[in-house]
Amino acid sequence: MQLFDLSGRVAVITGGNGGIGLGMAKGLAAAGATIVVAGRDAAKSQSAVDELAAAGGKASAIPVDVLQEASCRALIDQTVTAHGRLDILVNNAGMSIRKQPEQYTLAEWHTVLDSNLTSAFLCSHAAYAAMKQVGGGKIINIGSMMSIFGAPFATAYAASKGGMVQMTKSMATAWAKDNIQVNAILPGWIDTALTRRAREQVAGLHESVLKRTPAARWGAPDDFAGIAVFLAAPASDFVTGATVAVDGGYSSQA
Ligand code: NDP
Repeated sequence: MQLFDLSGRVAVITGGNGGIGLGMAKGLAAAGATIVVAGRDAAKSQSAVDELAAAGGKASAIPVDVLQEASCRALIDQTVTAHGRLDILVNNAGMSIRKQPEQYTLAEWHTVLDSNLTSAFLCSHAAYAAMKQVGGGKIINIGSMMSIFGAPFATAYAASKGGMVQMTKSMATAWAKDNIQVNAILPGWIDTALTRRAREQVAGLHESVLKRTPAARWGAPDDFAGIAVFLAAPASDFVTGATVAVDGGYSSQA
Protein backbone atom coordinates (compact mmCIF):
# COMPACT_ATOMS: atom_id res chain seq x y z
CA MET A 1 0.00 0.00 0.00
CA GLN A 2 1.48 3.38 -1.04
CA LEU A 3 0.31 5.07 2.16
CA PHE A 4 2.86 3.00 4.06
CA ASP A 5 5.52 2.54 1.38
CA LEU A 6 8.99 3.82 2.30
CA SER A 7 10.84 2.59 -0.81
CA GLY A 8 13.55 5.06 -1.80
CA ARG A 9 13.45 6.82 1.60
CA VAL A 10 16.53 7.09 3.81
CA ALA A 11 16.12 6.90 7.60
CA VAL A 12 18.64 7.73 10.35
CA ILE A 13 17.90 6.21 13.76
CA THR A 14 20.04 7.36 16.69
CA GLY A 15 20.42 4.48 19.11
CA GLY A 16 19.13 2.23 16.33
CA ASN A 17 21.54 -0.52 17.35
CA GLY A 18 19.35 -2.00 20.09
CA GLY A 19 16.14 -1.83 22.11
CA ILE A 20 13.31 0.42 20.89
CA GLY A 21 15.53 1.95 18.17
CA LEU A 22 16.17 -1.43 16.58
CA GLY A 23 12.46 -2.30 16.87
CA MET A 24 11.64 0.83 14.86
CA ALA A 25 14.48 0.16 12.40
CA LYS A 26 13.01 -3.27 11.65
CA GLY A 27 9.62 -1.74 10.83
CA LEU A 28 11.09 1.00 8.63
CA ALA A 29 13.33 -1.50 6.79
CA ALA A 30 10.41 -3.86 6.16
CA ALA A 31 8.47 -0.92 4.65
CA GLY A 32 11.36 -0.37 2.20
CA ALA A 33 13.47 2.39 3.78
CA THR A 34 17.27 2.36 3.70
CA ILE A 35 18.38 2.40 7.34
CA VAL A 36 21.34 4.17 8.91
CA VAL A 37 21.96 2.73 12.36
CA ALA A 38 23.67 5.40 14.48
CA GLY A 39 25.21 4.52 17.84
CA ARG A 40 28.47 4.56 19.80
CA ASP A 41 29.04 0.82 20.19
CA ALA A 42 30.41 -0.33 16.82
CA ALA A 43 29.98 -4.07 17.48
CA LYS A 44 26.35 -3.58 18.55
CA SER A 45 25.69 -1.43 15.47
CA GLN A 46 27.20 -4.05 13.15
CA SER A 47 25.11 -6.77 14.73
CA ALA A 48 21.95 -4.64 14.22
CA VAL A 49 22.91 -4.06 10.57
CA ASP A 50 23.44 -7.82 10.12
CA GLU A 51 20.03 -8.54 11.69
CA LEU A 52 18.28 -6.02 9.42
CA ALA A 53 20.07 -7.36 6.33
CA ALA A 54 19.26 -10.97 7.23
CA ALA A 55 15.57 -10.00 7.21
CA GLY A 56 15.98 -8.56 3.71
CA GLY A 57 16.46 -4.89 4.69
CA LYS A 58 18.98 -2.32 3.44
CA ALA A 59 21.09 -1.07 6.35
CA SER A 60 24.49 0.34 7.26
CA ALA A 61 26.03 1.90 10.37
CA ILE A 62 27.49 5.34 10.97
CA PRO A 63 29.08 5.95 14.38
CA VAL A 64 27.78 8.85 16.44
CA ASP A 65 28.15 10.27 19.92
CA VAL A 66 25.08 12.47 20.27
CA LEU A 67 26.75 14.34 23.14
CA GLN A 68 29.03 15.96 20.53
CA GLU A 69 27.63 18.59 18.19
CA ALA A 70 30.25 17.83 15.52
CA SER A 71 29.36 14.14 15.63
CA CYS A 72 25.62 14.85 15.13
CA ARG A 73 26.40 17.07 12.14
CA ALA A 74 28.83 14.51 10.69
CA LEU A 75 26.14 11.80 10.99
CA ILE A 76 23.74 13.78 8.81
CA ASP A 77 26.47 14.85 6.33
CA GLN A 78 27.78 11.28 5.96
CA THR A 79 24.25 9.95 5.45
CA VAL A 80 23.58 12.39 2.63
CA THR A 81 26.99 11.68 1.08
CA ALA A 82 26.46 7.92 1.23
CA HIS A 83 22.79 7.75 0.22
CA GLY A 84 22.13 11.03 -1.61
CA ARG A 85 19.27 12.11 0.67
CA LEU A 86 17.70 12.08 4.12
CA ASP A 87 13.94 11.66 4.60
CA ILE A 88 13.42 10.32 8.13
CA LEU A 89 15.19 11.11 11.41
CA VAL A 90 14.37 9.17 14.57
CA ASN A 91 15.77 10.88 17.69
CA ASN A 92 15.83 7.81 19.92
CA ALA A 93 19.24 7.80 21.68
CA GLY A 94 18.77 8.27 25.39
CA MET A 95 19.89 7.40 28.91
CA SER A 96 19.07 8.07 32.54
CA ILE A 97 20.92 8.60 35.80
CA ARG A 98 18.62 7.40 38.54
CA LYS A 99 19.09 9.56 41.65
CA GLN A 100 17.14 11.77 43.99
CA PRO A 101 17.28 15.41 42.82
CA GLU A 102 19.40 16.52 45.79
CA GLN A 103 22.05 13.94 44.89
CA TYR A 104 22.50 15.18 41.31
CA THR A 105 25.68 17.01 40.30
CA LEU A 106 25.44 19.69 37.64
CA ALA A 107 27.57 17.52 35.34
CA GLU A 108 25.11 14.62 35.69
CA TRP A 109 22.18 16.93 34.97
CA HIS A 110 23.90 18.15 31.79
CA THR A 111 24.75 14.60 30.69
CA VAL A 112 21.10 13.54 30.84
CA LEU A 113 19.72 16.71 29.24
CA ASP A 114 22.40 16.68 26.52
CA SER A 115 21.99 12.96 25.75
CA ASN A 116 18.21 13.02 25.52
CA LEU A 117 17.12 16.52 24.51
CA THR A 118 19.99 18.62 23.14
CA SER A 119 20.98 15.68 20.92
CA ALA A 120 17.53 15.68 19.31
CA PHE A 121 17.76 19.44 18.76
CA LEU A 122 21.21 19.09 17.17
CA CYS A 123 20.33 16.19 14.86
CA SER A 124 17.07 17.87 13.79
CA HIS A 125 18.87 21.18 13.25
CA ALA A 126 21.41 19.40 11.05
CA ALA A 127 18.73 17.40 9.20
CA TYR A 128 16.54 20.39 8.32
CA ALA A 129 18.46 21.52 5.22
CA ALA A 130 18.75 17.96 3.88
CA MET A 131 15.00 17.35 4.31
CA LYS A 132 14.12 20.69 2.75
CA GLN A 133 16.24 19.77 -0.22
CA VAL A 134 14.12 16.66 -0.96
CA GLY A 135 10.82 18.49 -0.46
CA GLY A 136 10.01 17.39 3.08
CA GLY A 137 10.74 14.90 5.81
CA LYS A 138 9.68 13.15 8.98
CA ILE A 139 11.18 13.62 12.44
CA ILE A 140 10.17 11.18 15.17
CA ASN A 141 11.21 12.05 18.73
CA ILE A 142 11.16 9.48 21.51
CA GLY A 143 9.69 10.77 24.76
CA SER A 144 8.58 8.68 27.72
CA MET A 145 5.88 8.29 30.34
CA MET A 146 8.16 10.79 32.13
CA SER A 147 7.06 13.33 29.48
CA ILE A 148 3.74 13.27 31.38
CA PHE A 149 4.45 12.00 34.89
CA GLY A 150 7.19 12.57 37.45
CA ALA A 151 9.18 10.20 39.66
CA PRO A 152 11.59 10.74 42.57
CA PHE A 153 14.49 9.16 40.65
CA ALA A 154 13.84 10.91 37.33
CA THR A 155 14.24 14.68 37.74
CA ALA A 156 16.69 15.21 34.87
CA TYR A 157 15.23 12.42 32.71
CA ALA A 158 11.66 13.76 33.10
CA ALA A 159 12.86 17.30 32.37
CA SER A 160 14.51 16.06 29.17
CA LYS A 161 11.50 14.01 28.05
CA GLY A 162 8.98 16.74 28.91
CA GLY A 163 11.16 19.13 26.93
CA MET A 164 11.15 16.68 24.03
CA VAL A 165 7.35 17.02 23.70
CA GLN A 166 7.41 20.83 23.76
CA MET A 167 10.34 20.91 21.31
CA THR A 168 8.37 18.56 19.04
CA LYS A 169 5.38 20.91 19.01
CA SER A 170 7.51 23.98 18.31
CA MET A 171 9.50 22.37 15.49
CA ALA A 172 6.25 21.03 14.02
CA THR A 173 4.85 24.55 13.83
CA ALA A 174 8.08 25.99 12.43
CA TRP A 175 8.65 23.39 9.73
CA ALA A 176 5.10 22.59 8.55
CA LYS A 177 5.70 25.11 5.75
CA ASP A 178 8.60 22.92 4.57
CA ASN A 179 6.48 19.74 4.58
CA ILE A 180 8.46 18.36 7.51
CA GLN A 181 6.27 16.60 10.08
CA VAL A 182 7.61 16.36 13.63
CA ASN A 183 5.93 13.97 16.08
CA ALA A 184 6.74 12.23 19.35
CA ILE A 185 6.23 8.70 20.60
CA LEU A 186 5.83 8.15 24.34
CA PRO A 187 6.78 4.56 25.22
CA GLY A 188 5.39 2.91 28.32
CA TRP A 189 7.53 0.39 30.18
CA ILE A 190 9.46 -1.57 27.54
CA ASP A 191 11.76 -4.53 28.09
CA THR A 192 15.21 -3.24 26.97
CA ALA A 193 18.75 -2.89 28.36
CA LEU A 194 17.70 0.46 29.89
CA THR A 195 14.83 -0.96 31.95
CA ARG A 196 16.62 -4.22 32.76
CA ARG A 197 19.02 -2.08 34.83
CA ALA A 198 16.06 -0.27 36.44
CA ARG A 199 14.39 -3.56 37.28
CA GLU A 200 17.55 -4.62 39.09
CA GLN A 201 17.79 -1.33 41.00
CA VAL A 202 14.14 -0.69 41.91
CA ALA A 203 12.51 -3.32 44.11
CA GLY A 204 8.98 -4.23 43.01
CA LEU A 205 9.21 -2.38 39.69
CA HIS A 206 8.45 -5.44 37.58
CA GLU A 207 5.28 -6.25 39.50
CA SER A 208 4.08 -2.63 39.66
CA VAL A 209 4.45 -2.23 35.87
CA LEU A 210 2.38 -5.38 35.27
CA LYS A 211 -0.27 -4.20 37.74
CA ARG A 212 -0.49 -0.64 36.38
CA THR A 213 -0.47 -1.52 32.64
CA PRO A 214 -3.97 -2.41 31.34
CA ALA A 215 -2.40 -4.67 28.68
CA ALA A 216 -0.83 -6.55 31.64
CA ARG A 217 2.60 -6.94 30.05
CA TRP A 218 5.83 -5.09 29.43
CA GLY A 219 6.17 -3.69 25.93
CA ALA A 220 8.67 -5.17 23.47
CA PRO A 221 10.89 -3.30 20.98
CA ASP A 222 8.86 -4.83 18.14
CA ASP A 223 5.78 -2.96 19.44
CA PHE A 224 7.36 0.19 17.91
CA ALA A 225 7.67 -1.05 14.32
CA GLY A 226 4.13 -0.06 13.31
CA ILE A 227 4.02 3.41 14.84
CA ALA A 228 7.45 4.20 13.34
CA VAL A 229 6.20 3.24 9.86
CA PHE A 230 3.02 5.31 10.28
CA LEU A 231 4.89 8.43 11.44
CA ALA A 232 7.53 8.03 8.68
CA ALA A 233 5.11 7.35 5.83
CA PRO A 234 2.77 9.41 3.61
CA ALA A 235 -0.10 8.05 5.79
CA SER A 236 0.82 10.68 8.44
CA ASP A 237 1.36 13.68 6.13
CA PHE A 238 -1.27 15.78 8.00
CA VAL A 239 -0.15 14.61 11.46
CA THR A 240 2.36 16.97 13.05
CA GLY A 241 3.14 18.11 16.60
CA ALA A 242 1.37 15.02 17.95
CA THR A 243 2.41 12.77 20.82
CA VAL A 244 1.42 9.11 20.56
CA ALA A 245 1.60 6.94 23.67
CA VAL A 246 2.65 3.36 22.93
CA ASP A 247 2.15 2.07 26.43
CA GLY A 248 -0.48 -0.68 26.62
CA GLY A 249 -2.83 1.87 28.22
CA TYR A 250 -0.46 2.86 31.08
CA SER A 251 -1.07 6.62 30.71
CA SER A 252 -4.84 6.18 30.39
CA GLN A 253 -5.20 4.31 33.69
CA ALA A 254 -6.37 6.47 36.61
P1 NDP B 1 18.68 1.13 25.22
O1 NDP B 1 19.61 1.40 26.34
O2 NDP B 1 18.55 -0.25 24.68
O3 NDP B 1 18.97 2.10 24.01
C1 NDP B 1 19.53 3.37 24.17
C2 NDP B 1 20.26 3.68 22.90
O4 NDP B 1 20.76 5.02 22.95
C3 NDP B 1 21.43 2.76 22.68
O5 NDP B 1 21.29 2.19 21.40
C4 NDP B 1 22.65 3.67 22.76
O6 NDP B 1 23.63 3.33 21.79
C5 NDP B 1 22.07 5.02 22.43
N1 NDP B 1 22.82 6.11 23.04
C6 NDP B 1 22.82 6.51 24.34
N2 NDP B 1 23.68 7.53 24.51
C7 NDP B 1 24.23 7.79 23.29
C8 NDP B 1 25.18 8.70 22.80
N3 NDP B 1 25.77 9.61 23.63
N4 NDP B 1 25.49 8.71 21.50
C9 NDP B 1 24.92 7.80 20.66
N5 NDP B 1 24.02 6.88 21.05
C10 NDP B 1 23.68 6.88 22.35
O7 NDP B 1 17.27 1.65 25.75
P2 NDP B 1 15.83 1.80 25.09
O8 NDP B 1 15.75 1.14 23.78
O9 NDP B 1 14.89 1.47 26.14
O10 NDP B 1 15.78 3.39 24.89
C11 NDP B 1 15.56 4.03 23.65
C12 NDP B 1 14.82 5.33 23.90
O11 NDP B 1 13.54 5.05 24.43
C13 NDP B 1 15.51 6.26 24.91
O12 NDP B 1 15.38 7.60 24.48
C14 NDP B 1 14.72 6.02 26.17
O13 NDP B 1 14.76 7.14 27.04
C15 NDP B 1 13.33 5.82 25.59
N6 NDP B 1 12.38 5.17 26.47
C16 NDP B 1 12.55 3.87 26.88
C17 NDP B 1 11.62 3.27 27.69
C18 NDP B 1 11.71 1.85 28.15
O14 NDP B 1 10.85 1.41 28.95
N7 NDP B 1 12.68 1.08 27.68
C19 NDP B 1 10.44 4.01 28.18
C20 NDP B 1 10.37 5.35 27.69
C21 NDP B 1 11.31 5.89 26.87
P3 NDP B 1 25.09 2.73 22.25
O15 NDP B 1 24.80 1.49 23.02
O16 NDP B 1 25.79 2.50 20.95
O17 NDP B 1 25.71 3.82 23.06
